[in-house]
Amino acid sequence: MHLLIMGAPGCGKGTCAVELKSFYGIPHISTGEIFRKAISEKTKTGLIAQRYIDQGFLVPDEVTNEIVKERLSEDDCQKGFLLDGFPRNLAQAKALTKILEDLDIKLDAAINLDVKDEIIEKRIVNRRICENCGRGYNLIYLKPKQEGICDVCGAKLYQRKDDTLETIDKRLVVYNTQTKPIITYYKELGILININANQEPHKVVEEIINKVK
Ligand code: AMP
Repeated sequence: MHLLIMGAPGCGKGTCAVELKSFYGIPHISTGEIFRKAISEKTKTGLIAQRYIDQGFLVPDEVTNEIVKERLSEDDCQKGFLLDGFPRNLAQAKALTKILEDLDIKLDAAINLDVKDEIIEKRIVNRRICENCGRGYNLIYLKPKQEGICDVCGAKLYQRKDDTLETIDKRLVVYNTQTKPIITYYKELGILININANQEPHKVVEEIINKVK
């Protein structure tokens, strides 16, 4: 199954992706995660990406497209993948179409998580992520059993540096102006699946699996 998942910041992409990855047995490829790893390892890509991410802007297409192309060319992506956070603008969507054509891979579905504006901010500022397994928590909707600790693997939870009120507004502007148009792109390709992401995470995952079927 070759899938991509998209939606506004804080729509729950990451949380669903962890579940979908194990359900379909496919790699979860998150460009945000790849950048955060590169930043923590202080690689050349990491240093470039950090300047944009900290300000809530998109990392330039030439950097991002190259990373995705390399990752999708790896063997484990032949049987499937779940692409999360890419594409984020029309140019990236067209670049992805070309990358997949070259790899002879057909995208099965583009899953769009639709969430109301008023809950996005609350979700983002209360988001915590496991530093080990990447599982997402929320201090209001999806609390860990023990404060600051992942229920599943026991590692520490952290708050993303760009999950602050100052950067959220910028990220939402970027989403509305640059990312939203790709919904129409995938609708026209006939592979768009719209999901109501205002529900609890397990219901969102259930709806995705049913509609992808
Ligand atoms: P995410 O973890 O998907 O919310 O991504 C965190 C940040 O990484 C975004 O706000 C962007 O600055 C950057 N980023 C992630 N994916 C992309 C992409 N496809 N294109 C450009 N920048 C990206």
